[in-house]
Amino acid sequence: SCQQKPTGPIEMTMCDYETVESVNEELYEQLHALVRTPFFKYFRVDLYRDCPFWDENILCVNEDCRIVTVDENEIPVNWRAESLSKLEQPQDENLSEFPGCYQRNSDFCYLDDVTEGDYVDLSLNPERFTGYNGPSSRRVWEAIYQENCFGQSELSLMNQPYKAAASLPDTLLDPLRAQSNIDPVEDQQCVEKRVYYKIISGLHASISTHICYEMLNKTTGEWVPDLQCFVSRVASHPERLQYIYFNTVLLLRAVARLGSYLSAYDYCASATHDEHTITIDAMRKVIDIATATGKFDETVLFRGSNADVLKQEFKEHFRNVTRIMDCVGCDKCRLWGKVQTTGVATALKVLFEMDEKALDPKSNVHLLSRGEVVALMNALHRFTESLHAVELFRMMWREASEDE
Ligand code: FAD
Repeated sequence: SCQQKPTGPIEMTMCDYETVESVNEELYEQLHALVRTPFFKYFRVDLYRDCPFWDENILCVNEDCRIVTVDENEIPVNWRAESLSKLEQPQDENLSEFPGCYQRNSDFCYLDDVTEGDYVDLSLNPERFTGYNGPSSRRVWEAIYQENCFGQSELSLMNQPYKAAASLPDTLLDPLRAQSNIDPVEDQQCVEKRVYYKIISGLHASISTHICYEMLNKTTGEWVPDLQCFVSRVASHPERLQYIYFNTVLLLRAVARLGSYLSAYDYCASATHDEHTITIDAMRKVIDIATATGKFDETVLFRGSNADVLKQEFKEHFRNVTRIMDCVGCDKCRLWGKVQTTGVATALKVLFEMDEKALDPKSNVHLLSRGEVVALMNALHRFTESLHAVELFRMMWREASEDE
């Protein structure tokens, strides 16, 4: 299963697997350089919100779950809470009130208020095996898949009484059963539902790939790739691997659409001359690759007679996924869960909410918040790193087969 490369068109896109593979190493290299620059490595996040859906005790006491935050004094002045609250909060901001907090409702996700949370240096907190598993992580994934129940909004967690998820029917809390009920690949009726499932399953597969790519060898204390882990979690389910490619194309399309905006963005703050040059250079190359390969046609979605209702539902469900991240019981997993769901939500907003006029950097300088730009590029980096890891696993598989 590890040797069977997907070939031909990537379903629902105008791109094929071979094209993505032919550009991935260059893309990964450029994104790797980009996410190490000051603009893209500092991410402000509130990691300590209550789980709004059930009582979650943070169970992961493992050292590898912990994250290191950055003192705000180390952060450029214009990104500190005080300056950001003046600059970034739009006048007509759309605040939603939740138990204990407010969050900005940004189409496909809830963004933390810019004055809350801590800065994290993402480059010092790599997403890898942390030991977080068991009922807590299982329940989070179940809740995320449950949001795929379109047209049955009473099944969405958002419509359940606060902290009442435990009372949901068993069929909804069992991912295998829930999945077989809702797996939309069989459902030709609703392309949007299939897209939603591919996004979530691809994100899950990508996170699993990172865990397997950097697994802790408890004997030597080294971080090593674990082929068996990758085979059982991803490669033995070929569609999961395919959905990582799908997400990559989706995000590339968003970056391509944002080309002019991202080229005109001011990445100067705090960067030295060299860092600024690296940022601009890497961003230009990523945009070029995205323009050539991000061939996803967003106009085929949300077109039918109930398009507006469906889009509203899609947004609500994806926003819910971003809230479910507050239920992840391991700091580092929650951090990367938030970065990646915010990144995907930003891509969805760019694809489904913005016309060419909105994307014009001259007419819409504050199109995206800094956090959204950082999350989008880091999420794309994560997907390309997964595809990079897949190549390594294929090589390991070949070597292991030759040895037999
Ligand atoms: P899980 O990955 O928990 O999957 C649960 C069930 O979902 C599986 O039994 C299977 O039926 C189904 N499933 C699995 N993959 C897919 C797929 N791609 N598509 C459809 N269905 C699928 N752990 C870490 O070590 N490091 C991290 O950084 C990390 N980050 C996380 C971030 C989030 C948001 C969450 C929810 C969890 C994170 N975890 C992390 C935990 C990790 O994802 C797993 O839950 C854990 O390793 C246990 O894995 P598992 O093999 O039991 O199956």
